[in-house]
Amino acid sequence: MLNFTPKELQERKSGGMINPAKTCQPIGAMYAALGIHRCLPHSHGSQGCCSYHRMHLTRHFRDPVMASTSSFTEGASVFGGGANLKTSIKNVFAIYDPDIMAIHTTCLTETIGDDIPAYLGTAEIPEGKIVIHCNTPSYVGSHITGFSNMTKGMVTYLSEASTETKKEQVNLIPGFVNPGDMREIKRLVKVMGINFIMFPDTSGVVDSPMTGKFEMYPKGGTTIGELKDTGNSRLTLALGSFASTDASLALERKCKVPAKIMKTPIGVKATDEFLMALRNGFVKEIPYELEEERGQLVDIMTDTHYHFHGKKVAVFGDPDIVIGLTEFVLSLGMIPVHVLTGTPGNAFEKELRAMLLEAGIKGNVKASGDLFEFHQWIKNETVDLIIGNTYGKYIARAEDIPLVRVGFPILDRSVHSYMPIVGYKGAMRLIEMISGALLDKQDRDAADEDFELVM
Ligand code: SF4
Repeated sequence: MLNFTPKELQERKSGGMINPAKTCQPIGAMYAALGIHRCLPHSHGSQGCCSYHRMHLTRHFRDPVMASTSSFTEGASVFGGGANLKTSIKNVFAIYDPDIMAIHTTCLTETIGDDIPAYLGTAEIPEGKIVIHCNTPSYVGSHITGFSNMTKGMVTYLSEASTETKKEQVNLIPGFVNPGDMREIKRLVKVMGINFIMFPDTSGVVDSPMTGKFEMYPKGGTTIGELKDTGNSRLTLALGSFASTDASLALERKCKVPAKIMKTPIGVKATDEFLMALRNGFVKEIPYELEEERGQLVDIMTDTHYHFHGKKVAVFGDPDIVIGLTEFVLSLGMIPVHVLTGTPGNAFEKELRAMLLEAGIKGNVKASGDLFEFHQWIKNETVDLIIGNTYGKYIARAEDIPLVRVGFPILDRSVHSYMPIVGYKGAMRLIEMISGALLDKQDRDAADEDFELVM
């Protein structure tokens, strides 16, 4: 690969992307919709888009991902997709019998200007069934934008403020994280003894157990009743500003539920902040069980500090995850010199630059970036470790740098979606993965040196 100087990289026009560090909006919308119990996500567009989105999610979660499509052909592309959508709604409820359909759009339907609310106004929706929608033009934003739009759609269509006084419960919007993370966040809140509604909640849907028979709608997911009840909660914690802010603010406007926007709870500091927000809102004390976990994590960090201290690291992926990971590696004594997301947003650069400035680190930070640029940064200033999704392996291989796979998508490993990276337990797991990768590389280099000596 060519080696661009930092100046040449700066001068590179933003006309095109090479290996984008993001994917398209509908994937996020489809994933969010799977987090509603007995929901069938519906892709309003052509079959190819839907197949790709289902395949991508299936490969990451290694569980079947169900979704229907409006199956556009040339006619719909020219005359509009209203007829296709109305037929789809009729067929989906008749054949697959979901309780709710969650429609998202694709590039094609956005480009021709299909008006989904107008179509829904004249569609035959069976009694007792629900259809919600969001717009997900893929030439704007990323899969995180799509996740955010669909989660906001849940609030717009379903949340209701039906009680006079707010209930002693918290809404948790987990952001685009794995079901293993959602389970861990719920465990922390259960240990705190606080009632909660998590939405969307894909645990029990894309990590459902093998039962010997195919279940179109597994047991997991937020129920429609719970989604309605989000309007009666006393507080919403939006975990991850990029994926969860819009829904939490929509809920604040619609049902007067105050929103607190926080980081995805990755690492000690962000997990502390999450638990303190719960403590301040609902309970007097943090239970000893969680204090013990935190103490164990701090003990591990102290014991292993020499593995990490001064090691340079490059982090890429989805903005909420990258922000959390960067804060965490800083707390381990590592030096994040390259930090990149493919999702657009000035807030990402602002927050990361402030974090690096506070730590006295001069690093590269970029939103709307691509992996070509990320690779060039590494060529110009090498690192000891890369943290990111599966696509980082090509850079890792080319530069002989260990890669710790975190984020979405991870297509060449399994089990990851069951295991959390959030909370104190998740931080312990991250430490195990990072230190394993660094020490494996050290062992390999030592073995190479021994071999050279013998030769
Ligand atoms: S056409 Fe748009 S929505 Fe469909 S797969 Fe491509 S980027 Fe995604």
